[in-house]
Amino acid sequence: MPVQYNLPESIAAVIRRLEDAGYASYVVGGAVRDCLAGRQPHDYDLCTAALPQQVEEIFTDKHIIETGLKHGTVTVLAEGEPVEVTTFRTESDYSDGRRPDSVAFVSNIEDDLARRDFTVNAMAYSPVRGLCDPFDGQDDLRRKLLRCVGDPDTRLQEDALRILRALRFAAQRGYTIEPETAAALHRNRERLVHVSAERITSEMMQIVCGAHVGAVMMEFSDIIAQILPEIAPMIGFEQHNPHHKYDVWEHSIRAVESIRPDPLLRLAMLFHDAGKPQTYSVDEHGIGHFYGHPAISREITEQAVRRLRLPVQQEKKLLYLVRHHDTPLGCTARSVRRKLAVHGEELFRSLLAVKKADCIGQATAPQNVTNLLQTEALLEQVLQEDNCLTRKDLAVNGHDLMEWGVSGQEIGRYLSELLNRVLDDPSYNTREQLHAMFEQLRTQEDHMELTVNGMSAGSCVRMVKESLESIPAVTRADIALDSGRVMLYGQNIPLEQVEKALAAVGFEVAI
Ligand code: ATP
Ligand code: MG
Repeated sequence: MPVQYNLPESIAAVIRRLEDAGYASYVVGGAVRDCLAGRQPHDYDLCTAALPQQVEEIFTDKHIIETGLKHGTVTVLAEGEPVEVTTFRTESDYSDGRRPDSVAFVSNIEDDLARRDFTVNAMAYSPVRGLCDPFDGQDDLRRKLLRCVGDPDTRLQEDALRILRALRFAAQRGYTIEPETAAALHRNRERLVHVSAERITSEMMQIVCGAHVGAVMMEFSDIIAQILPEIAPMIGFEQHNPHHKYDVWEHSIRAVESIRPDPLLRLAMLFHDAGKPQTYSVDEHGIGHFYGHPAISREITEQAVRRLRLPVQQEKKLLYLVRHHDTPLGCTARSVRRKLAVHGEELFRSLLAVKKADCIGQATAPQNVTNLLQTEALLEQVLQEDNCLTRKDLAVNGHDLMEWGVSGQEIGRYLSELLNRVLDDPSYNTREQLHAMFEQLRTQEDHMELTVNGMSAGSCVRMVKESLESIPAVTRADIALDSGRVMLYGQNIPLEQVEKALAAVGFEVAI
C-alpha cells in the first residue's frame, strides 16, 4: 500500500518556497516515522540546505522567530502555524555527554541524518525528492526494531539522554531494541548522571505511561535503577506468600500496566511496594509478611521522587496514594462516607484505581477485585445521595455553637465530633438533633471521637491502641478497623499529644 504522507498545506507550502529558491528541503524525524507507520504525526520538523539567514530572506513576508539561530533553527509563522525549519547540520565533540560543543552546517541531507539517534528517526521525506533513508530505517520500522544510527556505544556516549529515548520509544510503540543497541544501553547506563533532572523526568513520565512499559522495565530494570536506585531492592525479591505469584518487582510492573496511563497513578504503582524488602518477615509456617510496608514505601518514594522534582501538589498526591494503597476503603455505606470525608472524591477514586491495579497485579485474588467493585458501587450511591461529608455540610455551623455558649478552638472540635456522628448516620443532620447531640456531648466531656487514617490490618489497630493508651489522660481506646473510627475515653485528652503519638507509629488523625 502506498504511504500516505498527506503533509498539511502549511508544511508543504514552506517546502515548496524553499525548493523554488533552490534549496533541498524535507520533513524529517518523527513525522516521517509516524507517516510510514500509519500514524498521524503530532508535529512536523523541517530541514533544509538553506542557511538560517537565507531562510529568513526567503520568508521576509512572514513573521519569523529566531528560535535557535546558533543551532540553525528558525520558526516561520506560515498561515499562523509555527513551522520549525533547521539547516542541515552535523554535531561534534560532546565533551559533557549531553550537548554538542559545536554544530556545523552541511549541504546534504545524508550528513544531517547521520547525527540522529535511531534509524527509524533518521529518515527524511520531500514531496519533490521522495524518501531519503540511508540507514534502512524503513526496514527496521517494518520489523519494529530500534537501532542506533552508527556505533551504539559512540552514539550513547555522545548523548546519554538517548538511553532513555530508546526506552521511551520501546515503551510507547512496542519496538524491540536491537541486541547490539540493547547491550550498549546496559553498558552505558552510568552516563545518565550527565543528564539533567528535567530531561530525565520528562522521559520517565512518558516511559511509565507507555502501553508496553512492562516489557521495557523487565528488560532494562538496571537502567531504571540507575535513575531511581530506590527500586533496586525490589528486583528479584521473592514474597513467599500465597497471595503473590510474582517477586516484588514483577508484581509492581504488572500493577503499573494495570492502571490507566496517568503518570502519577503509574508512579504510585511503581513505588507502592518499595518498602516490602525492608519490612519482610517470615512466620512459623514459612509465609512472608510485610507489616507496615506502606509507611516505608512512602518514605522511599519521597526520597526517590525528590530527584524527579515533581510539582509539590503532585508529589503530595503520589505519596498519599503510596501510603494508603493498603488502607481499606470500606464495604458499608457508613465506612465509604467516612473515607470519602477523609480523602475527597478525586483521591478516593484514585485510591480505588490503585487498589484495583494492585489486585490485578497479584493475579491471585479475584475476590478482592469484586470487593473493590462493590465499594465503587457504594461510592456512586453515597455521592448520589448527596450526603453530609464535611463540616460545612452540617446543618449547624460555628455561629450556632457560639450561640450555644462555645468559643475558640472548642468550636472546631465540636463540629468535628458532630460530623463524626453524622457520617455514621446522615439522618442525624438536622439542627434539632445536632443540638441534642451537642448537649449530650457537653455534659459527658469524658471522651474524644476521631478518625484515624492509614490502618490496614489488625496489627495496625493493636499499634494504634497501644500508642494511644500510653497517653496518661486516655483510659481506653476503642477502634473500628474498617472505618478508622476511634473512641478515646478519659478526662481532658490533649489532641496534640494524640496526633504526635499516632504520627510516631505512622498514622494520622484525619478528622
Ligand atoms: P515524538 O513523536 O515523541 O516527538 P520524535 O522522534 O519527533 O518523537 P523529537 O524529540 O521531537 O522526537 O525529536 C525530533 C527528531 O530529532 C528525532 O526524530 C531525531 O531524529 C532527532 N533527535 C531528537 N533528540 C535527539 C537526540 N538526543 N539525539 C539524536 N537525535 C535526536
Ligand atoms: Mg517530535
